[in-house]
Amino acid sequence: MPRLSRRSFLAASAALVARPAVGAGVPASTAIDVVIVGAGAAGIAAARRIAASGRKFVLIEAADHIGGRCITDTHTFGVPYDRGAHSIHMPDVNPVTKLTARRGIEVYPAPASQKVRIGRRYAREGELEDFLALQGRANRAIADAARKGDVACAQALPNDLGEWRPSVEFVLGPYGCGKELTQVSAVDFTKSAERNADAICRQGFGTLIASFAEGLAVKLSTPATTIDTRRDVAVETPKGKITARAVIVTASTNVIASGAIKFTPELPKRQVDAFAKLSLGSYDHIALELSDNPLGFESDDLVFEKSADSHTAAILANVSGTPLCLIEVAGTFGRDLAAHGEAAMVNFAADWLAGLYGSDVKKAIKRSHATRWNNEPWALGAFSAAAPGGQGARRILMEPVQNAIWFAGEAAHETVWGTVGGAWESGERAADAVLRRLGPAKEPPPADASAPSKRRAQRVRAEPR
Ligand SMILES: Cc1cc2nc3c(=O)[nH]c(=O)nc-3n(C[C@H](O)[C@H](O)[C@H](O)COP(=O)(O)OP(=O)(O)OC[C@H]3O[C@@H](n4cnc5c(N)ncnc54)[C@H](O)[C@@H]3O)c2cc1C
Repeated sequence: MPRLSRRSFLAASAALVARPAVGAGVPASTAIDVVIVGAGAAGIAAARRIAASGRKFVLIEAADHIGGRCITDTHTFGVPYDRGAHSIHMPDVNPVTKLTARRGIEVYPAPASQKVRIGRRYAREGELEDFLALQGRANRAIADAARKGDVACAQALPNDLGEWRPSVEFVLGPYGCGKELTQVSAVDFTKSAERNADAICRQGFGTLIASFAEGLAVKLSTPATTIDTRRDVAVETPKGKITARAVIVTASTNVIASGAIKFTPELPKRQVDAFAKLSLGSYDHIALELSDNPLGFESDDLVFEKSADSHTAAILANVSGTPLCLIEVAGTFGRDLAAHGEAAMVNFAADWLAGLYGSDVKKAIKRSHATRWNNEPWALGAFSAAAPGGQGARRILMEPVQNAIWFAGEAAHETVWGTVGGAWESGERAADAVLRRLGPAKEPPPADASAPSKRRAQRVRAEPR
């Protein structure tokens, strides 16, 4: 049984990441070529590219750690716990698997199949086939509708999905896009590349991404508050002003739309509208430590429920063979639940699991934690999904503004939006565009700065399970 594809659903699912070299303050020098705002996947990718070119850059990060929405926490449970991204989609073509990670970091294929719980039992093979077939039909119906216009995915869904409808809607909508299908553009959905055949990093996806930032100087706890492009580019931060010739902004669409960064002059309406159309959906992990594997999960099992309504979740069990189980909540239900706080989320997860496996499971829950990405001030959500009619906004995000500001990040990708790989490619693309605009550097790149690009052709060690 194939694992459900990410066109079927988009997102599956080191100490709070190893910290890179950190500069002291913001330099007063005007010899900076590029300021990069945000040290998530896109910002790190852009910085590596600029470093390799020999151009001078400053990478500033609002939070006190790098990684953004791809961060591994090893403190809470004593084992790697990806608070954000966990699955490396399509590892064969994902840019991050083409890089050489630090020694000791291991990437391995995720199981190729998933399970579905129907009440207190697992679905039989035929039932799973029905579920997958209905998803295939729903995908095709959305693709057909997208050819005629950019309607909401929900409008295109077949009427006869029967008792599997809530599960199909959950997998394609909240689980895949972080939003209900009524809020997702059929064109955006259809353009998204296949995202099955996942890989997993045993030390955490955040650890993997952080390892690629080693050697890059990052100014932590340094939020950009104002970007003024009237003369040069002046980026204002609480620690001082940085003047450069170009800026790459990788903050999430919701952060930009919130007005957390003031642009002078104001961003053109075209860009403002594009950010609004690419708002972030809601997706959170409720992490439970289940001692002694009481539910008999296998490592990295992915379990859905044949649900009666939208109050459902997915289980990512025994993460990399540890007792950590992630209960994934998303979309409107996940957003409302998260708004009630961590305790409510953990209670839901415990009750929901008890409903599927019996109440004894509650006794096995030891430590717990729940992410609340909508409340993270430097993310304000999980990942972007275009509103109906809004798919074109992704290309608008890729356009430079006043030949001085380049936006990058997962939202600025047309096919692997909402992923770390997409963010990475978009960061590299923005860096290339800036380098073309600046022309060749006068000084050759320092030997260590070019190291990342030399290693680009090698692969992360991927071992069979
Ligand atoms: C719960 C969850 C699960 C996910 N699962 C997966 C998955 O399995 N696989 C997958 O590929 N993707 C997944 N994703 C999506 C993935 O995490 C994102 O697409 C990706 O990490 C985005 O990277 P980015 O660089 O575009 O943005 P970010 O990671 O948000 O990086 C932007 C950075 O900018 C910083 N910043 C913001 N404002 C400012 C400012 N004013 N000044 C300076 N810095 C600022 C932020 O702190 C942040 O570090 C998941 C996301 C979530 C939340």
